[in-house]
Amino acid sequence: MLELLFLLLPVAAGYGWVMGRNSARQAQQRHSSILAKHYYRGLNFLLSDEPDKAVDTLIKMIDLDSDTVETHIAMGKFFRHRGELDRAIRVHQNLVSKEQISALQRESALYELGRDYILAGFLERAENAFLQLLNSQKHFLNAQVQLFNIYQTTKEWKRAIELAEQMIGAGGDSDELCNRVAHFYCEQACIEIKDNNLIEAEANLKKAVVADEKAVRPWLLLGEIAMQQQKYSDAIDCLSEIPSRDVSWLSEAIPLIEECAERLNDDVKLNKVLDEYWQQCATAYLAKVKLMAKDGEAENAAQVLLEQLKKHPTMKGFKTLMGLYIDLQDHEQSTNSLVLLKELVEEQIEQRPKYKCHSCGFAGSKIHWLCPSCKKWGVVKPIKGLDGE
Ligand SMILES: [Zn+2]
Repeated sequence: MLELLFLLLPVAAGYGWVMGRNSARQAQQRHSSILAKHYYRGLNFLLSDEPDKAVDTLIKMIDLDSDTVETHIAMGKFFRHRGELDRAIRVHQNLVSKEQISALQRESALYELGRDYILAGFLERAENAFLQLLNSQKHFLNAQVQLFNIYQTTKEWKRAIELAEQMIGAGGDSDELCNRVAHFYCEQACIEIKDNNLIEAEANLKKAVVADEKAVRPWLLLGEIAMQQQKYSDAIDCLSEIPSRDVSWLSEAIPLIEECAERLNDDVKLNKVLDEYWQQCATAYLAKVKLMAKDGEAENAAQVLLEQLKKHPTMKGFKTLMGLYIDLQDHEQSTNSLVLLKELVEEQIEQRPKYKCHSCGFAGSKIHWLCPSCKKWGVVKPIKGLDGE
């Protein structure tokens, strides 16, 4: 009889195992049913336009199951797209505070929380969120972009420089980053120029030159500082660096070089730049023609200009040519009609934008080193062609 009982032991164990498995399955089913109940309730609240109750229900769900994190992140983004930032922040904030979610999930929630904060105008909190993501493998690049955007908005150039240098130090020295950091140094230098702190400004501009060898802005600013200090020869040296770095900015350098040459009463350095680059833009060929006219070669100047306009026509060029013809004309009637025509062309030139963004097409009459439309650095340049250079 006792042996029989021993024989029944495996059956009892098997029964116990089956019962246990059933009970675990039942618990799992109960759990799923609670989740489904919360899920449908949350959905129902959303559909019946009661988002606050939906948020409460969703937050309860995360306590029950960390598998729904992605759904929560998406839900927070959904609220953000609808402009309901307080709800988006609540959902994402709740996720970040949960201990049971993975590090990667927390990073994703933190990134979205940072974006919510930016839109809500809480820039300091956003900065804090993105700073925590600088070591994240998945989010560090996007976090850097967001941090740069924050520093650009708040004009905290020193912090922007610090972050960019840190990135360059970590091996991220892309052309885009070098271009960006050079502009940050220039922005900081502009503040120092305004405060009349020229030594600091010059130091930052030299760092900009090292950071981006193609940058023209630091040379333009160094030239302006030298002019402010009446060091006109040094100013020409700085401004002469511009065309070899980016010839599209020559039109900004030429008028300043002309002014320095006039102050020095010496055209040697101006001539040297023009000899090399005079055909590159309207401002340069007009400076050359002006020099020729100044030396008493008005007829020759008009001929050179006419030839140049056939190859590279610009409104500015036609205006100057009319000016030269007016000076050369004897006949009063034809002079009057040329004067009228010149004034009309001048009016047209005044109305046209001078600079255009190569990235988004934004056009304006002032230099914007940071495009106000697409927020990229160094993409707004002087306009080429008939209307411009
Ligand atoms: Zn743009």
